Amino acid sequence: MREQVDDMYMDRDRKSDGWLGDTRHSVRKSDHNPDKNGIVRALDLDADLGAHKEEAYALVEKIRKCAKRGDKRIKYIIYDGKIMSPIMNWKRRKYRGANPHRSHFHISFTTLGDNDGKWFDLEGDKQNEGIKTDGGKLGENIPRDGSSDISSGGLGSRRYCKCGSSISLA
Ligand SMILES: [Zn+2]
Repeated sequence: MREQVDDMYMDRDRKSDGWLGDTRHSVRKSDHNPDKNGIVRALDLDADLGAHKEEAYALVEKIRKCAKRGDKRIKYIIYDGKIMSPIMNWKRRKYRGANPHRSHFHISFTTLGDNDGKWFDLEGDKQNEGIKTDGGKLGENIPRDGSSDISSGGLGSRRYCKCGSSISLA
């Protein structure tokens, strides 16, 4: 997902990007915490896409529609005080967590993505399949030490998620 967004917005701001939960996360249930196999199933992307402000809404909408169309790798999305999940069929609902997620948006993934790194059909027409390069890597386990591709792609030292999102879908 991050690679796709990077391709779409080459000069986007990555300051609020993150994926690995900090110690505040680790005491709670959060998809930013590695599971027992070291897999992290959450990604924060900076809402400053280097375009006009509404672009973040447009991108979140593309991801939401992709999930609604049936890409079950996407578990839920949080942005600007709203959460979108299979509950109520991906309708935008009020997010009541401590952090309203305005500087970044949060995407949680299901275990289906662990071994399925094909590109997300964000345009709804599968056009992206033609430019698929090494999308297969996306589903690889992300090691705890951040030595994988995802951290070298610009996250640098700011790999910790600061969104404080910790929600239960139960
Ligand atoms: Zn997050």
